[in-house]
Amino acid sequence: MNKIEHIGIAVKSLKESNLLFEKLLGQPPYKEEEVKSEGVKTSFFKNGPNKIELLEATTANSAIAKFIEKKGEGIHHIAFDVIDIETEIKRLQKEGFVVLNEKPKKGADNKLVAFLHPKSTNGVLIELCQEIE
Ligand code: ZN
Repeated sequence: MNKIEHIGIAVKSLKESNLLFEKLLGQPPYKEEEVKSEGVKTSFFKNGPNKIELLEATTANSAIAKFIEKKGEGIHHIAFDVIDIETEIKRLQKEGFVVLNEKPKKGADNKLVAFLHPKSTNGVLIELCQEIE
């Protein structure tokens, strides 16, 4: 696992939170993207070497809608950059982590992604992401 790639924050309104984070970070998001398969709209902010991803649910049964219903807005996941996601998934499974999707899927921002269940990671949803060449 390499550096933290981004921190994902669940929000009720991408539009309102984009304005808030623009004020906070002093620059607008560099990208907005809908991931239909996940039922989310996302925006990405750069802050020095770090990135923040905001996520708004587009369907009632999206994971983000359920998260906000249960916990309210807030930090949803921490994403780590990996070079070879399939090898990393196998390694982590061997270590006893629960991988939510064994087959990496296409996420936002040109990445292959996989998630670890929070019950195996102290309550924190972990995303692995590999840049698609
Ligand atoms: Zn993410």
